[in-house]
Amino acid sequence: MDIVGNVLPQVLKDEATEDKGEMARLQSFVGAIAVADLVKTTLGPKGMDKILKPTGPGQEMTHITVTNDGATILKSMYVENPAAKILIEISKTQDEEVGDGTTTVAVLAGELLREGEKLIQKRIHPQHVIAGWRIARDVALKRLRDISTENDINSQEFHDDLVKIARTTLSSKLITSDRDYFADLCVKAVLRLKGSSNLDYIQIIKLPGGTIRDSYLDDGFILKKQITIGCKRRIENAKILVANTAMDYDKIKIYGTKVKVNSMDKVAEIEAAEKEKMKHKVDKILKYQPTVFVNRQLIYNYPEQLLADSGITVIEHADFEGMERVAAATGAEILSTFDAPERSQQVLGHCDLIEEIMIGEEKMIKFTGCKKNEACTIVLRGASTHILDEVDRSIHDALCVLITTVKNKRVVWGGGNSEMQMAAACEEEAKKVQGKQAFAIEAFGRALRQIPTIICDNGGYDSAELIQNFKVELQKGNYTCGLNMTDGTIGNMSELGVKECLRVKEQALMAASEAAELIMRVDDIVKCAPRKRERA
Ligand code: ADP
Ligand code: MG
Repeated sequence: MDIVGNVLPQVLKDEATEDKGEMARLQSFVGAIAVADLVKTTLGPKGMDKILKPTGPGQEMTHITVTNDGATILKSMYVENPAAKILIEISKTQDEEVGDGTTTVAVLAGELLREGEKLIQKRIHPQHVIAGWRIARDVALKRLRDISTENDINSQEFHDDLVKIARTTLSSKLITSDRDYFADLCVKAVLRLKGSSNLDYIQIIKLPGGTIRDSYLDDGFILKKQITIGCKRRIENAKILVANTAMDYDKIKIYGTKVKVNSMDKVAEIEAAEKEKMKHKVDKILKYQPTVFVNRQLIYNYPEQLLADSGITVIEHADFEGMERVAAATGAEILSTFDAPERSQQVLGHCDLIEEIMIGEEKMIKFTGCKKNEACTIVLRGASTHILDEVDRSIHDALCVLITTVKNKRVVWGGGNSEMQMAAACEEEAKKVQGKQAFAIEAFGRALRQIPTIICDNGGYDSAELIQNFKVELQKGNYTCGLNMTDGTIGNMSELGVKECLRVKEQALMAASEAAELIMRVDDIVKCAPRKRERA
């Protein structure tokens, strides 16, 4: 040992360091478990929220975030520990892939490592642990798929399932009391998509003011912009040209290109030429015969005047996202050159009515009866921007999960049901396997059982007793049982309507076990020396 200690500093140059064997592993375990413990208390419908506060100068209190969402918490954390980073990464991936289960995945990986640490203390080699975990994961996955059910996509049952899934996803978030209202709203929005998975068609607008209950779903598309003064405020049967092109010309531009002239007349000449060019461009646009012109960039007075004079309604300076959505919803193409007016039929978007509306105190433009009729808008109202942001995140989660469910169709019971069943499968398997792997398989089951245990703990209930009762109920063959988090008992999930999407659980299981395995494999952490600037 001493020899290694003496030699190493000579092997690694400068500030590079190395942590070996036990030390390295311990360091990863501690990091990963610490991260998992941090989000643990937010798990489940009675989970607590966290306040995220930025550090550093210039970061005022207005930038704080109040959230219950695992991914949001983890994303904003600044950590140095490599294993902790892996956990943060899987939570992020979970968020991107399926939108929910972001806390579950981190907690499960943490619990797996906690069990793994105990196994290593018992002198079981990491490779045996990993081998056991792999068997356990497959068994658990098989059980999970076996217990999932599928309904016909057009049936009332499927529709009910969607509402239940949305409710379960929303139940842990800020808006618990309003979850039925929002579950319904999200399902309606997703069903409008008719199987498409393009979330762009569902737009969320946040407007401080009013109460959460004033939020509503509006068909059609709403753009947070105003119609330029002097244009028509109501256009029926609109033909929309969506563009991203420069419609400004002025001195700054000319100066920017460094044109040297020797008299003011010359400047005026250049300006006139620019003006002429602009007129030419407008003429080209007019050839497409649109009735509405939406541009990403600013439109200056002169071209605006030209367009308005031709009876075209102008919307300028649309934000990029808004513009892409207008294009998607109305079936338009985004143009930046205007040389093919013969394609006007294909590139122009259509909608039945464009009008200016008022939401709260703000004026907006509403597009109704769009060509792609899937488009709709969720208008969120609420007392403060913090609440609105959290509602927005929750709704986004719910929409993602619903879209995943519509694609995948398979559902499982929530309230810890699937985890308990998977744990049972692992336990059964452990009895059949010879060798040390069996310990690891058992441990995998225990880690899975920690999910319902933590959900119980977070509700302030006696988890030891409840989980034991839960086990017994399942053993008896009561396969729809689960945690009743209002009474603190084991209840019937089909009566309580707690359902979850299979994909969310699958993804959480796979990602957590992969991450745990990855961290388990580590036996060496090498810190590379910082790269130095080459001397000139
Ligand atoms: P995640 O970020 O992982 O989705 P959540 O805080 O949303 O974490 O908690 C999800 C867990 O809470 C799931 O295991 C789910 O089954 C459980 N759960 C959600 N709603 C209920 C409920 N009403 N009763 C019992 N369990 C619930
Ligand atoms: Mg959730």
